[in-house]
Amino acid sequence: MCHCGAVGWALASRPARLTSCNCLACRRYAALWAYGTRESVTITAEADATIAYVHGDRTLAFHSCRVCGCTTHWAGLAPHDGEWRIAVNMRMADPAAFADIPVARFDGAVTWSYLD
Ligand SMILES: [Zn+2]
Repeated sequence: MCHCGAVGWALASRPARLTSCNCLACRRYAALWAYGTRESVTITAEADATIAYVHGDRTLAFHSCRVCGCTTHWAGLAPHDGEWRIAVNMRMADPAAFADIPVARFDGAVTWSYLD
């Protein structure tokens, strides 16, 4: 959950890998993303608990806690290949809980592909 506890999330299963993306937004958030969908991710927050930031081609919204500012997740604004995609920022979790999950580097800045 975020620092103040207003926004939380839960995953239906343990992610096989996490993603560190270097795009203009993600490198600023310093997030470690675990990808899922509306079916596999549960967001726990009041309806107005987050600030949603949308930019560029408007495919997704980054959600940050309105109180403490932590970026907790992003959510797709339309279905992608039939799925409503969500990614959660694993930095909200206890580091020990994901220390053994490999991190893949995604080049969202230029090639839009994994570097590892
Ligand atoms: Zn918070």
